[in-house]
Amino acid sequence: QKFVYDFTEGNRDLKDLLGGKGANLAEMTNLGLPVPPGFTITTEACKVYLDSGDAPKELRDEVSAHLDALEAKMGKKLGQADDPLLVSVRSGAKFSMPGMMDTVLNIGLSDKSVTGLAKQAGGDERFAWDSYRRLIQMFGKTVLGVDGELFEDALEEAKTAKKVKVDTDLEAADLKRLVKKFKKIVSDACGRDFPQDPREQMDLAINAVFDSWNTDRAKLYRRQERIPGDLGTAVNVCSMVFGNLGPDSGTGVAFTRDPASGHQGVYGDYLQNAQGEDVVAGIRNTVPLADLESLDKKSYDQLMQIMETLETHYKDLCDIEFTIERGQLWMLQTRVGKRTAGAAFRIATQLVDQGLIDEAEALQRVNGAQLAQLMFPRFDDEAKTQLLGRGIAASPGAAVGKAVFDSYTAVKWSRSGEKVILIRRETNPDDLDGMIAAEGILTSRGGKTSHAAVVARGMGKTCVCGAEEIEVDTKRRRLTVGSTVVEEGDVVSIDGSSGKVYLGEVPVVPSPVVEYFEGRMHAGADDADELVEAVHRIMAYADRRRRLRVRANADNAEDALRARRFGAQGIGLCRTEHMFLGERREMVEKLILADTDDEREDALKSLLPLQKKDFIELFEAMDGLPVTVRLLDPPLHEFLPDITELSVRVALAESRKDANENDLRLLQAVHRLHEQNPMLGLRGVRLGLVIPGLFTMQIRAIAEAAAARKNAKGDPRAEIMIPLVGSVQELEFVREEAETVIAEVEAAHGIDLKLALGTMIELPRAAITAGQIAEAAEFFSFGTNDLTQTVWGFSRDDVEASFFTAYLEKGIFGVSPFETIDRDGVGALVKQAVEAGRRTRPDLKLGVCGEHGGDPESVHFFHEVGLDYVSCSPFRIPVARLEAGRAAA
Ligand code: ADP
Ligand code: MG
Ligand code: MG
Repeated sequence: QKFVYDFTEGNRDLKDLLGGKGANLAEMTNLGLPVPPGFTITTEACKVYLDSGDAPKELRDEVSAHLDALEAKMGKKLGQADDPLLVSVRSGAKFSMPGMMDTVLNIGLSDKSVTGLAKQAGGDERFAWDSYRRLIQMFGKTVLGVDGELFEDALEEAKTAKKVKVDTDLEAADLKRLVKKFKKIVSDACGRDFPQDPREQMDLAINAVFDSWNTDRAKLYRRQERIPGDLGTAVNVCSMVFGNLGPDSGTGVAFTRDPASGHQGVYGDYLQNAQGEDVVAGIRNTVPLADLESLDKKSYDQLMQIMETLETHYKDLCDIEFTIERGQLWMLQTRVGKRTAGAAFRIATQLVDQGLIDEAEALQRVNGAQLAQLMFPRFDDEAKTQLLGRGIAASPGAAVGKAVFDSYTAVKWSRSGEKVILIRRETNPDDLDGMIAAEGILTSRGGKTSHAAVVARGMGKTCVCGAEEIEVDTKRRRLTVGSTVVEEGDVVSIDGSSGKVYLGEVPVVPSPVVEYFEGRMHAGADDADELVEAVHRIMAYADRRRRLRVRANADNAEDALRARRFGAQGIGLCRTEHMFLGERREMVEKLILADTDDEREDALKSLLPLQKKDFIELFEAMDGLPVTVRLLDPPLHEFLPDITELSVRVALAESRKDANENDLRLLQAVHRLHEQNPMLGLRGVRLGLVIPGLFTMQIRAIAEAAAARKNAKGDPRAEIMIPLVGSVQELEFVREEAETVIAEVEAAHGIDLKLALGTMIELPRAAITAGQIAEAAEFFSFGTNDLTQTVWGFSRDDVEASFFTAYLEKGIFGVSPFETIDRDGVGALVKQAVEAGRRTRPDLKLGVCGEHGGDPESVHFFHEVGLDYVSCSPFRIPVARLEAGRAAA
């Protein structure tokens, strides 16, 4: 096994082994770009170090061999007194990770070689001592663990003493004095002197990079970003080039195109006479990259040339770091750059237009999460705002409301019609009511897997968490940021997509992408947004490629019409229980309370025309497309009054001796129907089998509605779906009844309704016996919400708020199984049921109607197992279309 690779040996595909930085340095080297020579120590070496506490035995010799080669190439030795080779030691994992060790520059400088460096730089003492003080500072802080402020304070003091503002105004003598001070800081803090041996400096720095993989901050970051903890980091040793050699030197960062808009142009910052970190550290004012043209035309032109080479080579937006040493340009880093969601769409289509990538590749450059982000309403960019602070963007959206600091107030105020933002240090299960009542949630502690973040995402509620600058004082009901105080009742605005928190009301504008899907903005129109054009094209790429059809979960004509505008190809789930609410509740009550057949039939008769009318409207809205109607599913007690409230009412009435007959009967029924685990109780097909006439009424309503639509020359395509089936016998009972009713309606109208009858697969037993169930079902629709509950044995309504945070933190699952399908468990059952079902009935139609139907990763899974369609809420349809296209591309 080889632990060290020269930059000439690697390439960009070796990110696992060489880390992102190392792999791309190698790629640039092999492209012939000016990269300072160097080598990369692999992540494998790091893994050995982390496992055993020691670097692999062979590493020292391999590093020596590569260092020898580097010295030979450069014609000088590391730290050589009269002409020192200096190197940087740079961390670089597969994924870039803030929270890990930074880079140490200028390794190889010592009390001796600092003079050699000055001599080689044409007697530039200032430069040499500046480099040396930087080394001690960076090395002291990141390798020896000395408090960085000690160095910064000493630097400030030196500037004040000299009455200058910026570090470049310090002269050689000042810096020499500073170096002495820095060395003292090191020996005081560490009980040892700053190491003078260059090789020791390098080895200590390498080990420090290895160790930095496991700092608390790095671990936290990995947990939040779901980066595996065992990848390890690579270490890059790179010969130094100097941007701090005077005005003809400098350092900068650049993007090959604008990461916000995607536009091509000159984007970046440059800083004269500076080294590495200075650009981002903001110690002096940078100039726009375009100004480099007048400062150093030759380097500027070369840089533009290189940027073009990189874009054509990587076929994507790249960001880069470069340094100019006395008019000579050096490339120090590149990678495919981060970008906003909007830019991702624009860049993908721009690259297609440039002929750099094809449509299928364009689909891989964007994703459903980005599209979803673009669909949230957002704060008006043009609005004047006062930024209060910034936290983690935990759950997207733009929320505005009055600040409240406890759940009780949140609920109370929202009941009286106020919009509130619930602000807590952290939330816990007691805050649930308040979270539901609030427009958005803001916390000052916790990351993406904190209670607030997990629960808010589950509820689709805007959330910013871990806004650390904000001090939350729940006792005094206020928050402070610096000197700003926000009292209870003051308005705040939070942006769950950027993590920004504002004081006061920021106006919200609708997303242009939603305006487009709604048909209020058109691609190709003169005033169409560039983003809309890009989304329009990408959606077309996806629609052309996808095999999965996309349907909507919609219960009424209004939702159905919106779903159609969003591209739905039918309804995969119409929940009929929503049709039994409001004033119809009383009829359901009558049905439940019926003592005699006549009473029951009366109740059903009054419901029939109402149901029929609902279905006619729905079939009309979805004319020509399939509509899957699920028969009544929830436990009946959901239609009755709350047991406690009713008990109290009856008890009070009894004490006044005027108990009302109906209430007494209701109370009896409520007691009779009360269940410990209603989710596992009398619901779904079980209701149909024990309440005579209920399902038949619903089926008749569907059939008559379909007949009415046919008679009106419509094209209804109804599918009747039976919920919670566990055995084929249950389904056979319902099928027999259904066939009789349908035949009656068909005979009465003299038409063939072609109604399909199928079932949900949402119990483990149904999945396991899917081969039998398919005998009686023309289609399956996987109810992955209930299937997840029953496979894991936990109730969604209870557990997300109670122990999911702990489970996520312990890594038992990386994401809630209600959000993304659990491939190994629930997914395995789905796969098995698909195969068994198709064996019995090759033309079995297969779909999914759980929440997972709109989740990007789950859509890929459903594509892989061969479903025919996914069904999701209208708003998620574009996301599902896009992901279905990506899965097929
Ligand atoms: P990060 O991952 O934090 O960007 P880098 O390893 O890229 O860390 O280095 C930090 C800064 O130091 C960057 O600006 C980089 O360009 C600069 N730098 C790194 N190595 C060298 C070198 N050999 N010569 C000059 N500058 C360097
Ligand atoms: Mg860098
Ligand atoms: Mg269900």
